[in-house]
Amino acid sequence: MDRTLIKYALTNIPAGQAVTVAGWIRTTRHSKGGFSFLTINDGSCMASIQAVADGKLANYADELVHLSAGSSVVVTGALAESPAKGQTVEIQASEVRVLGASDAATYPIQPKRHSFEYLRTQAHLRPRTNTFGAVARVRSALSFAVHEFFQQRGFLYVHTPIITTSDCEGAGELFRVTAMDLADLPRDPAGNVDGEQDFFGRPTFLTVSGQLEGETYACALGNIYTFGPTFRAENSNTPRHLAEFWMVEPEMAFCDLAGDADLAEEFLKFLFRVVLERCGDDMKFFNDRIDKTVIETLEHVTDSPFERITYTEAIDILAAADRSWDYPPRWGADLQTEHERFLAEETFAKPVVITDYPAQIKPFYMRLSDDGKTAAAMDVIVPRIGEIIGGAQREERLDVLEAQMKAQNMAPDDYWWYLDLRRYGTVPHAGFGLGFERTVQFITGMVNIRDVIAYPRTPRSADF
Ligand code: ATP
Ligand code: MN
Repeated sequence: MDRTLIKYALTNIPAGQAVTVAGWIRTTRHSKGGFSFLTINDGSCMASIQAVADGKLANYADELVHLSAGSSVVVTGALAESPAKGQTVEIQASEVRVLGASDAATYPIQPKRHSFEYLRTQAHLRPRTNTFGAVARVRSALSFAVHEFFQQRGFLYVHTPIITTSDCEGAGELFRVTAMDLADLPRDPAGNVDGEQDFFGRPTFLTVSGQLEGETYACALGNIYTFGPTFRAENSNTPRHLAEFWMVEPEMAFCDLAGDADLAEEFLKFLFRVVLERCGDDMKFFNDRIDKTVIETLEHVTDSPFERITYTEAIDILAAADRSWDYPPRWGADLQTEHERFLAEETFAKPVVITDYPAQIKPFYMRLSDDGKTAAAMDVIVPRIGEIIGGAQREERLDVLEAQMKAQNMAPDDYWWYLDLRRYGTVPHAGFGLGFERTVQFITGMVNIRDVIAYPRTPRSADF
């Protein structure tokens, strides 16, 4: 169909010219004077375009006067300067073709404000609302910017497997992948489920991170990144956790922790600048309707250096704070979201890179520091969200890595290929994982992570 996107009809085309637009009706007003106003949205931008349908149109009395929200239409007509407030142009329709009518009484997206909880039950139709249209456009612009950032810098995009045999984070939060008949599981002579008879001949899982495989490509090709879905069977019912989420994982050879933190800061600032520049109308919507501080926050964050502190300094700041904590800060315990938010919101009021965590609370692959107590780990935390990036310089020394694995009750033989990177031409290298949905949350001000992904998967919920 030769149609003009509404974003171009509203901005790029002079009044007087004829256009055809296609979309879904947001609102209708059928005037007693024998004509109708239809506002039409096609998702190409936040704004809808108004079409004026005259009562003289052939299908007016039979069809157009009955149109309601949710109907799909193709409208052709001349663009005219609009007398309506806030509209630049409207279409004086010479033809309105109805593709699919909608039933006003039962259409789940009524032209009024719905709660986000309700809209989650209508996830198949919620992209037709202003908020979810805007989230989808920002998400798309950001995805493109992820590739742009890395490709401009010569990073290779690597596709790491979704089905894996290793638990990268060592947290045991894995979804099992199986083709076995659960009603009739094959057993070994001892009566245990026999994974050898499964599809892959061994137990397999959905990946929690592409990092280990990403490292193998970085240790051959230099700088790489992955951008794909990851899965965690963690029973975290929070506004910041999904069971299926998207992660961006760069990995750089010949890079240390400081270089890793530099990349993280540059990357986040690039993403924030892109949305400010390219998603103006959508960001204005979020700023007006969701959180009055999002634009100001993004501008402030892109203009000033991130704070950088060590974990030990963070603990000192938290311990000195006049606060009652759910989890009192203690050297050796992981930072909780309440701690991260205090540092990013109250102490520094900007993103903070926290480095050098206690080795015993971090995964085996993080580089052990000379003090023997801390690892070359970093988290980037931001106001409102807490952790948005987790990263590290990787342990490149074979003997130290093997000792770390044994200390964490892992069998080094299972990771023979990962250890080979340290056996044959080992190099210092570092990388991080950025939670894509948490980034969208931070940018848009959306409070619940379930509202920044099309079909959220969370404990006890995998609808649609
Ligand atoms: P958290 O402590 O918040 O659960 P994590 O330490 O488990 O995070 P990492 O394993 O370091 O997180 O993962 C890297 C990034 O992926 C995190 O910084 C975060 O942005 C994102 N992330 C981790 N778990 C989830 C999840 N369940 N849902 C959405 N994003 C997540
Ligand atoms: Mn987690």
